[in-house]
Amino acid sequence: MRYKLEQPVHAGITTKKYQCTIEWRNGKFIADEPPSVGGEDSGPDPYTLLLSSLSSCKLITLRMYIDRKGWEIDQIAISSNLYHETKDGSLTTVIDCDILFLSPVSAEQKTKLLEIAKKCPISKIVQGEVKVRVFVFRDEETKTINYANEEITVVWKPELCQHSTRCWTQLPTVFKPSERKWIDPNGAPADRIKEQVHRCPSGALGFLYNGELNPGETGQAT
Ligand code: SF4
Repeated sequence: MRYKLEQPVHAGITTKKYQCTIEWRNGKFIADEPPSVGGEDSGPDPYTLLLSSLSSCKLITLRMYIDRKGWEIDQIAISSNLYHETKDGSLTTVIDCDILFLSPVSAEQKTKLLEIAKKCPISKIVQGEVKVRVFVFRDEETKTINYANEEITVVWKPELCQHSTRCWTQLPTVFKPSERKWIDPNGAPADRIKEQVHRCPSGALGFLYNGELNPGETGQAT
């Protein structure tokens, strides 16, 4: 299985309506809902995030193409919105993207750039065949095994492991599938292990500095 992202996107919510914390490989941001549906508008809503993804992908794809061609087109802007329509009982979502070039472009360039914008990778995803697989776990039902040294604890949830091989091919001094105690927290510096844990595509691996453990919850090597 080949995931597109080196690290999965983690998202979480508490009882605070409806703030979601989204963690990506280099930071965090908040998603929310507008007050009209009970949120606080403290971040973009899911529809806005979808449109943002599509627009930014088109802009990046256009910029790459324009730079490769050596064309002098400095600024490009996109406005997007969406609506649903039902015809013959089936629901279609229509997404409109208006691209505005703020530098002169010839008719020929415009035709080519429209073609390029239509074929950006995110457009291909939303217009292609998509399968969303959802797996449900309750944290306390999921067996966890801790591998600890004095400084850190690596947590492994075997039921979530997809055996993607990523951990042991990328950090074989720590992740050793042929050994019974297969995670050795002494096999690399803590920061390197933490980085590798965050690359696990399934969420099967967790990482804690031992100071972050709750009282009575000691890292227990098996
Ligand atoms: S723990 Fe994560 S990275 Fe390692 S094999 Fe399992 S799914 Fe892959």
